[in-house]
Amino acid sequence: MSEKKYDAIIIGGGHNGLVCANIIAKKNKKVLICEARETCGGLANHEIINYIPSIPNSVTQSIGGLNLQYNPKGSIALSESGRHIRLIGNQHIDHATISNFSTQDADRYLEFDNKMTQFSKTLGGFMMDPPPRVMNNSFSDYLKLFKLGFNVRMMGKKRFNEFARMIGLNIADELEDNFESVLLQGLIAHDAVLGSNLGPRSPGSLINLLYRMAIHGNSLFGGIYEIEGGSNKFISVLLDKCSKNNVEIKTSASVKNCLIENDRAIGVELHNGEKVFGKTIISNADPRSTYSSLLGSQNLDTDVKRRIKHHRSKGRVAKLSLKLNKIPEFNECNNDDLNSRMVISPSIDYIEENFNPSKFDKLSSEPVLEICLKNNNENPSLDIQVQYAPYKAHGGWENIKDDYVNSIIKIISKYANNIENCIDSKTLITPDDLEKNYHVSGGHWHHGEIQIDQLFMLRPIPGAAQYKTHLDGLYMCGAGTHPGGGMHGISGKNAAKVVLGDL
Ligand SMILES: Cc1cc2nc3c(=O)[nH]c(=O)nc-3n(C[C@H](O)[C@H](O)[C@H](O)COP(=O)(O)OP(=O)(O)OC[C@H]3O[C@@H](n4cnc5c(N)ncnc54)[C@H](O)[C@@H]3O)c2cc1C
Repeated sequence: MSEKKYDAIIIGGGHNGLVCANIIAKKNKKVLICEARETCGGLANHEIINYIPSIPNSVTQSIGGLNLQYNPKGSIALSESGRHIRLIGNQHIDHATISNFSTQDADRYLEFDNKMTQFSKTLGGFMMDPPPRVMNNSFSDYLKLFKLGFNVRMMGKKRFNEFARMIGLNIADELEDNFESVLLQGLIAHDAVLGSNLGPRSPGSLINLLYRMAIHGNSLFGGIYEIEGGSNKFISVLLDKCSKNNVEIKTSASVKNCLIENDRAIGVELHNGEKVFGKTIISNADPRSTYSSLLGSQNLDTDVKRRIKHHRSKGRVAKLSLKLNKIPEFNECNNDDLNSRMVISPSIDYIEENFNPSKFDKLSSEPVLEICLKNNNENPSLDIQVQYAPYKAHGGWENIKDDYVNSIIKIISKYANNIENCIDSKTLITPDDLEKNYHVSGGHWHHGEIQIDQLFMLRPIPGAAQYKTHLDGLYMCGAGTHPGGGMHGISGKNAAKVVLGDL
């Protein structure tokens, strides 16, 4: 029998891996992280992240507190005419803002906000813990199911019917039923599809928005922050905790596969041939990599192989960074606006027309953009989430990247005439680049779509929804597990709870 040096070996030092490692190590367990890149943090990196939710209390408490400062950010829907809509997540102020465009929209916005907040709270109550295992016959799982049913029941019959109606609905129908301002529709629809492979007319885009709200403090436009010092600050705090909790970290240590003995994971083999043994192995890699590469398709039965083959994880968001020599002048925008989350998504049809070519791996010349001005004086930059950039683009990314970047800049120039003169350098990171450089297969924001068949007790695939894979001793803790991606660490925290229960 091999020597089990560690209680837990974590494959990948993304923020979920680091959260998971700290929680387990705090219980006096010996933990090792093997990270493929030269540094930890994964996608929680300043070149990827724009805005984040606040890290939930349940996560911060389980790692003994995080000393982070958050700056709240408003959202501004840019209009070519200069009549922008600015929303901050305060009902009173947002109502007054929307009234300038339409009093009917303003009143309807309050109703919509209240309804969506209630629904997101109902979902959110289910997000902070591992999902129940339906056929498990365990008291705690029954209790969780009962709690969910109870929360839904407490909505009242009318709201419950509305909730059930909306679950599979597309966001476009709901917004067009409620609002006349196409700019307002475009802004809300943007947030419903950000990070996903859905257009606003795709069924399920509404639940995507509820999901986002549940992570962002159950608010439509509140609960959006920048961390002071950027996302790298969060990672450095987690790394400090690791060193205090005696977590060992190997960087540039790419894991080739799991070592398996008697149908149980007993360790990992690195690409350099080194073998390390542990009682439990936890993968922070995405589900497809975990199953296909680390576990190995030769070790999967036909049913599991089929499920992982059909797991949808093709990314659709690219990241463009424009390093600036001066701050561009955006039409009719003041300094507060420049410090807000600027969104170019002028209507539902604009987004849908942009989404359509991506279904055929083609590019739209008018992408949907979320723009973040990072202004640390010496090196200002515009960091832009570009939706929908296909994972594998027709013509090959290497041949079309430059034209695509130019089309993005052309779009921005409609809102900031002098943008071209402000740019020193441009870097576009595509989903394909994310796969190669960040080791996320498909380069997906959530390591896998947030859609009804890949959520809750079905995330990432049936039979592996409680952070345990189909192989004993091998667990998952990344964004591909419940509740999904974004920088919040809930998956890492939940996985640690499950692993500690088994150690
Ligand atoms: C373009 C883009 C923009 C985004 N913008 C935002 C944003 O603005 N706000 C927000 O909240 N979220 C954003 N996200 C989502 C967020 O970044 C991710 O959901 C989150 O960081 C995932 O964290 P994780 O720890 O689960 O996984 P990851 O960050 O992917 O970490 C996994 C780690 O495992 C390592 N690894 C993988 N395989 C191996 C192996 N075989 N051996 C060793 N190590 C391995 C990887 O190198 C990586 O470090 C964005 C995502 C994308 C793609």
